[in-house]
Parts: sequence; structure tokens; C-alpha cells
Amino acid sequence: MADDADVIVVGAGLAGLVAATEIADAGKRVIVLDQEGEQSLGGQAFWSFGGLFLVDSPEQRRLGIKDSIDLALQDWMGTAGFDRDEDHWPRKWAEAYVAFAAGEKRAWLRAMGHRNFPIVGWAERGGYDAMGHGNSVPRFHVTWGTGPGIVEPFERRAREAANNGRLTFKFRHRVDALSVTNGTADGVSGAILEPTTVERGKSSSRTVIGDFSLRAQAVIVASGGIGGNHDLVRQNWPTRLGQPPKFMIAGVPEHVDGRMIGITEAAGGRLINRDRMWHYVEGIQNWNPIWPRHGIRILPGPSSLWFDATGKRLPAPLFPGSDTLGQLHHIMGTGYDYSWFILTQSIIKKEFALSGSEQNPDLTGKSWRMTIKRATNKGAPAPVEAFKRHGADFIVRDNLADLVGAMNSLAGNDLLKLDRIKAQIEARDREIANPFVKDAQVMNLHNARRYIGDRLIRTAKPHRILDPEHGPLIAVKLNILPRKTLGGFETDLDSRVFGHDHQIIRGLYAAGEAAGFGGGGMHGYRSLEGTFLGGCLFSGRNAGRAAAKAVG
Ligand SMILES: Cc1cc2nc3c(=O)[nH]c(=O)nc-3n(C[C@H](O)[C@H](O)[C@H](O)COP(=O)(O)OP(=O)(O)OC[C@H]3O[C@@H](n4cnc5c(N)ncnc54)[C@H](O)[C@@H]3O)c2cc1C
Repeated sequence: MADDADVIVVGAGLAGLVAATEIADAGKRVIVLDQEGEQSLGGQAFWSFGGLFLVDSPEQRRLGIKDSIDLALQDWMGTAGFDRDEDHWPRKWAEAYVAFAAGEKRAWLRAMGHRNFPIVGWAERGGYDAMGHGNSVPRFHVTWGTGPGIVEPFERRAREAANNGRLTFKFRHRVDALSVTNGTADGVSGAILEPTTVERGKSSSRTVIGDFSLRAQAVIVASGGIGGNHDLVRQNWPTRLGQPPKFMIAGVPEHVDGRMIGITEAAGGRLINRDRMWHYVEGIQNWNPIWPRHGIRILPGPSSLWFDATGKRLPAPLFPGSDTLGQLHHIMGTGYDYSWFILTQSIIKKEFALSGSEQNPDLTGKSWRMTIKRATNKGAPAPVEAFKRHGADFIVRDNLADLVGAMNSLAGNDLLKLDRIKAQIEARDREIANPFVKDAQVMNLHNARRYIGDRLIRTAKPHRILDPEHGPLIAVKLNILPRKTLGGFETDLDSRVFGHDHQIIRGLYAAGEAAGFGGGGMHGYRSLEGTFLGGCLFSGRNAGRAAAKAVG
């Protein structure tokens, strides 16, 4: 039987687009399949904030940040905590990826027209010792144009390849089976879904109107993770993080359903580190949802006071923006699946950013005029103010007694005691008078403000939370928001998938989130952030280049 193409790519998200464009550029024929309609091209990356992990970039250097590959590797390994036999390939991917982030990543993207916002963000700041979790320096480079800005160059290249006949898109094609003949992956089959006009990101129908079967010399699985399937998230939930949360909101669209992971595993692919995942604890219910149970992650600056459901301040170093999984572990240990921020208007104005392209019209729309207002505006950015007004998790009051009363009403219990909350806030407020203090969170603020990027747009001037000049007071109920799958198919550096017998399955490749962003989990247990899009770029590129070379 004749092949329909040289290579089939399952998934038109970022990893699939990168792989497919590399194949087409190498002069091979590629089919890109996606269960969603054309309007969803780019998958999750379109919705993303476009944050990219780069090491020793010109943007960092201009801001006085001294970074190096050694420092980045130290941070990556301290964060990943690789400790398993199956971490062999993930570790190799981690080393190769940090070298990519310190090397050609920026120039490769730049040559395609990609640009970064000049102020580098400081995510996952850690707070343990130098070998522990976290970024020693700011490394989170936001794409000018956010998610759409990272998809754009690859979509453009893919459409050019489609115009010259090397790339064929087949939307509404849902792969249900992967064919492996005599140990070689050689095709896929599945259902053709009815056409859809739903807007990007909304759930589309699963009504089947036909079937298909396609053959090629190689198949690349780039179908994303499991984050949109809460049953799978709960099934794979690691005991080290306690019980899975009862209530979760959704950080990804429904198409991140994890089905193709099961299908690839059934065809022989070796899935490793399935218990490693990356979920946020600062999730808020979107008052204007796109996908079901749509939640937004607050990217918090360092000043908000963080309380568990019973009103106890989270211990050091679990401050906003320090250690996502440390916070998740701690919160699940309280027996409740939510927690609280208490902050002031001055803090929300400077420190709240919301992750997602649609929540950042200034950066997404590449408007300098609007972006500059982040530093000069009286209020918070408009999308944050909208959440303050309409968001189900936001409470705004002029005094603490009213605030705590409203927090208890929202939670539907009386766990929070005014006296206890007040005592903790007043104690922290007494530490504000001097620049030398013992409260580790306040110390952190002084450290953060030594970085010009934080001083400009990310860290409010230290002030007393109960100072009415900085009011009103704001409380935010924070929910758990599943997002990323850190484990995946075990792959070598060419993105070739290993089988259950530890041998490479000829013709089978995996990239992006389905491959744990490379190797079956290049992050290990945790991430330094901005590493997911980059993992799709790197593993998609490796898969595309290797598959193009391998096919005759
Ligand atoms: C709101 C948001 C903000 C984010 N911000 C950042 C950030 O700032 N920095 C960062 O590094 N990362 C960020 N991420 C994460 C990052 O966007 C994703 O990890 C990444 O885009 C995943 O890309 P992918 O190509 O692997 O998978 P996906 O984007 O999930 O694409 C997979 C595609 O495969 C299709 N598919 C699945 N199964 C099948 C099947 N059986 N048949 C046919 N098609 C199938 C799906 O429909 C989908 O289109 C963010 C994510 C979100 C949602």
C-alpha cells in the first residue's frame, strides 16, 4: 500500500507545528492531524503567556542580571530532583535543553521574527539553599505578543509549506489507533468528526461522520498532556502530594484530554513519570470563561500574605511565586483544597499578572502605549480590575473585620478568626519600619526590589497591609488549577520513542507535553517556568529533524 505522506504528525499544537515545519523544510511530505477545527491551530500555546526560559540573554544583561549555563544547570538540577532509574533520558534532555536555552534558542526564534518584552520576569524564586529549588535570577522572557506571538512564526511556516504542497492539514481528524507493523510505526486511523464553528478554545462536538486510515514511514505523537482530564489527573495523582483535590478548576481547554497518551501506550510506547505533574495553587474562576470550569492562574508578585483555609500564614519560604509544588504539598496537607491571599490595592496594582494571552491585551496586542500603563496607571491592569469587580473569588472591603467576615461567607464556614488573622498581619506590619528584619517574606521584598525589573513593574513598595492609604483590602480565594503533565513517553535525544522492552520503536516519535517535553520528563519533579513552550520547541524540532532524516 502506498504511503499517504513521509511523516504523520498527531496534534497541531506548538510541538506538532514545529516538528511539521522542520519536516517540510527538509523537503519531505507531512500530514498534520488534529481533532479540533482549524480555528484552534496552535493548541494550548495560543492561550499561553508566551513566557520563555532563556539563559544569559541580552535582555537579562541589559537589566544587570549575571546568568550562566552553570548557574542555570545548578538551578535546573536542584529543581528537577532526578532520583529514578528512568530519569536517564530526562536528565540528558534537561542538560541538552539548558544548553539550547543558553545557546541557539533565542537566535533561532529571532530569525523567524520572534521578539521578547524587555523586562525579564522572575518566576519560581525558591528560598531554600543554592542547590535547592528555584531560579537564582530572573529568566522568564515574555514573548512580545504572548501566546499568539510564539505560534505565529510556526503557523506562517506551516501555511507556506501547505501552499507549496509539502504539508497537509487534516482538522477534525481524531486519531483512535496507532498502527505498528513488525515493530515499526507506520500509520494511524480514527474518526472524522463533524465540522465545527465553535470559537477557539471552546469544547467542540465529538459526533463522528466518518473514519480514516493513513500510512507513512513515521508518526510523531504531539498530542499534549492530560491536564484537561481531571479523572486522569486524579488517577495519576502522586501520594507524596496527599489526596487529590476534590475541587479543581481547569487550566487548559478540554482537548487536552490525554486520550492519545493511552492510545500510544497501548501501541507499545513506554510512558514514564506519569505521577509527575505541574499544577498551580493560585487559580481563580474565570468570570468570563472560554472553556468549561475555566480557571486563570495569578502570576503573583512577592508581597501578598498567604493564609491556609484555617487562617494560618503559609510558612517560609512558601511566599507567592517561590515554589509551586511546595505550596501544593503544604496546602493539601491542611486538609483543604483552597487557600487565601490578603493584600492591598497597592499590591494588586503592581503585582498581579494573569497568565494567558487573552488576559494581557497590552502584551498580546503588542501595544507599547498600553503596556507602559503597567508602570504608570493608578489602578491594576484592566483585566485584573475586571476580576476584582466580577470574579467569584475576590472580596474587596475597607476594613479587616468586614473582609474576614466576607471570606468566611464565601468559604461557607467560620474557619477564619479575625483576632488570629489580625495578629499575624500586625506582626508582619511591624517589620516594615526597617530595611533589616526577621520576617523572611519582608526580607524577600527588599531583595526583589534590588532588581530593577521587579521595582518597576512587579514588587510594590513595602508598606503596612493595614495602612488605609494603601487600601482597600482585598482577599482572593485561591483554587487548585491543573495545567501541565511533566511525565510522558520515554524518548532519546532524537525524540524516538522507547517500547516497553526498552528498545526504540522504529518510526515512532513523541514531542511536546506528550513526551514530558522531552525524554519522558525533562523537568523531573518541578519546573523553573517558561520551560514548557521551550520544551515543545526543542523536542518538536528534534523530532521533526530526526524523522525527516530517517525517512527515505
Ligand atoms: C493559559 C496557559 C498559559 C501558559 N503559559 C505558558 C508560559 O508562559 N510558558 C510556558 O512555557 N508554557 C506555558 N503554558 C504551557 C504550554 O502552552 C503547553 O505546555 C504547550 O503549549 C503544549 O503544547 P503541545 O503541542 O505539546 O500540546 P497541545 O497544545 O495540547 O496540542 C496538542 C494538540 O493535539 C490534539 N490532539 C490530542 N489528541 C488527539 C488525537 N487523538 N487525535 C488528533 N488530535 C489530537 C489536540 O486537539 C491539540 O490541538 C501555558 C498553557 C496555558 C493553557
